[in-house]
Amino acid sequence: MTTLLIDADDTLWENIVVFNAVNHAYVEWLLPGRTVTEMQPELDALQIECIAEYGYGRETFEKSLIKGIRRFGGRAATSRDRDHVAALVRPLQWETIEVHDGVVDTLANLATRTRLLLVTKGDREEQQLKIDRSGLAHFFAAIEILNQKSPAEYAEIMGKHALEPASTWMVGNSPRSDIAPALEVGIGAVYIPHPATWSHEQADVEDHPRLVRLRTFRELTDQF
Ligand SMILES: [Mg+2]
Repeated sequence: MTTLLIDADDTLWENIVVFNAVNHAYVEWLLPGRTVTEMQPELDALQIECIAEYGYGRETFEKSLIKGIRRFGGRAATSRDRDHVAALVRPLQWETIEVHDGVVDTLANLATRTRLLLVTKGDREEQQLKIDRSGLAHFFAAIEILNQKSPAEYAEIMGKHALEPASTWMVGNSPRSDIAPALEVGIGAVYIPHPATWSHEQADVEDHPRLVRLRTFRELTDQF
């Protein structure tokens, strides 16, 4: 039986656009007259520094916005600033999850003839919350929440679930996390780009005998 390992953020539901909207509101508030486009490289750099120190998750993102008050705004953060940032990041409590069009029908269809495993990375509690709120958990035989998606983690999943490389595929939007490491451990990869993939996750995707490129999640039903 074919097994599909399926990424979650920006593959099943909107994620990066929510972060982008927070960044937009933050720049408007802290740096009137500057645009989020010109600030994005510096915002990303600060966020990556914070991830290295604190790991993934919304608390790290909030810390990076508070640190940015000194770095970009040139002043110490006041308690009012902290309250304002806390309000800006409220959408990251994921009270609603915007599942992409066609995902529910496609998963229901695929679940009749393939084994589906959800494979996501990030803060465990936050990812679990998003999975619960998405209402999609019941389509998956197992859910794996990883700290990183490197070849070692994919090899571990293969062992844990007794998966054969020839009949296993990783489906996702991130060249760096979903596509490259999957191909490296010998499983197939299905690349479904999201228009707003985070710069940190971007990489060129070279042709490969086990790489499939699709435009939409729905197209998976033609493939498997
Ligand atoms: Mg993703």
